[in-house]
Amino acid sequence: MTIIGIDDTDSRDHGMCTTYLATRIATAIENTGSTVDRRLLIRLNPSVEHKTRGNAAIALHTNVDPPTAADISTRLIESFAINDDPQTSPGLVIANNADPDSVIDSVVEFCWKAIREFHTITDAVDIIEQAGYHHQEWDGGRGRIGALAAVGAWAALTEWTAEHIAYREFDRCGTSRDVDETSIFEAARDQYPVVWDTVDREEGEAVCVPSAPGPILYGIRGDDITAIKTVAAEIDSEPIERSSTFITNQGTDIHLRPGTIGSLQDGRAYRVTGTITSDPETRRGGHVFVPLAKMKVNDHTEEAVSKKNTMSADIHRSQTTPTDLDIPGQNTTSTVECVAFEPTKRFRKWVRRLRIGDVITACGEVSDGTLKLEKFAARSLVRTTKRTPICSECNRTMKSAGRNQGYRCRDCGTSSSDQAEKSLDRVLSLKWYEVPPCARRHIAQPLIRGEFDAPVEPER
Ligand code: ATP
Repeated sequence: MTIIGIDDTDSRDHGMCTTYLATRIATAIENTGSTVDRRLLIRLNPSVEHKTRGNAAIALHTNVDPPTAADISTRLIESFAINDDPQTSPGLVIANNADPDSVIDSVVEFCWKAIREFHTITDAVDIIEQAGYHHQEWDGGRGRIGALAAVGAWAALTEWTAEHIAYREFDRCGTSRDVDETSIFEAARDQYPVVWDTVDREEGEAVCVPSAPGPILYGIRGDDITAIKTVAAEIDSEPIERSSTFITNQGTDIHLRPGTIGSLQDGRAYRVTGTITSDPETRRGGHVFVPLAKMKVNDHTEEAVSKKNTMSADIHRSQTTPTDLDIPGQNTTSTVECVAFEPTKRFRKWVRRLRIGDVITACGEVSDGTLKLEKFAARSLVRTTKRTPICSECNRTMKSAGRNQGYRCRDCGTSSSDQAEKSLDRVLSLKWYEVPPCARRHIAQPLIRGEFDAPVEPER
């Protein structure tokens, strides 16, 4: 088998799209009588600064011979890749006689690191040469990083979803897209939940239709290839020039790693559990900030927290009244500010409802020391608050009797040594909450896909 990896052929302003170019390469290969068994669309670290939009790279698994693969790819990259944008830096990697399931370990590791961390071109070229792969570059060939990661992806990853992409007639690119939104909303409703993130019902937005220039008319995502193609077939639109179905790591949360507050690094995405230390604050622009502090459990391990989280999820499912997670001995040593940006829309209402003392698991990328929330799970919710005691005789609020001397009712002479407890009405429950489809990152997992360790509140 020949594996073709390709990346960085497009431009933010001029359009194009590496998936389109790869689709043309696949068609040209099929026109020679060879087959293309698999088209992979791999999302890499979303915090890479050079990305055009969603940091995607492509791999094609084919039986065409490597010289023909190189000829076809070169011809099409040279005719379609954007070459008047200094940011565009195409790269091509071809693995000869390779089994996509068992590429060498260094390529598998390279793929993992490309999804969760950063590489240099030198890292990529060293491993490409060690593996004996063919490679080509245009304008610096930074795309070889993504191309090599895509070559290693099938062996590196185990969880896959799919996207069916329809492309416009090429000469229409740059004009407004003619797609009937009613047909999209109806088709999306019929195939939900195996097809997800097609629309955002509350925002009334067809999120499957991009707004950026480029050849994509729409992309339908889901867990079932037949279902995503059914949705595509039911959409009324301008003519479709060609289409392609990709297997992808979109919607899998593969970018997230377990983290500990106090040792989070910029440019990485984490899943961290901590305690809210002050009430959420809405700042200019409508962005909602809330600080999360490191939490210590008895034995100081993350494993213990996640075990407790799983237990709390089970408890939640089997009882009508949820029992909050009891985490003994917590204290704080360090904090990270979490933010729900304005474009996350209604997600902010859940974030605003967090209270001091709540324990949450927050997921998102850390940038400039701030965790950009993609989803969170409420693990433990504060149910009471302290307040000044009420006099049992006259029902009026007592007054302070002086520093450390409790409270007293001056009229009745009654006294109380402590503040009283008042129960808090909580709208949040012990669940996962997420940003809506209109604000979803390509790689982030929608809650509706399941396998979470607590009940979920999916957005659609
Ligand atoms: P599109 O979504 O339109 O395909 P894009 O968002 O994928 O565009 P690219 O134009 O492909 O963006 O640019 C991303 C660049 O970053 C590529 O050159 C790719 O090789 C490189 N890259 C990807 N992941 C990493 C990483 N982890 N470290 C360093 N560079 C990376």
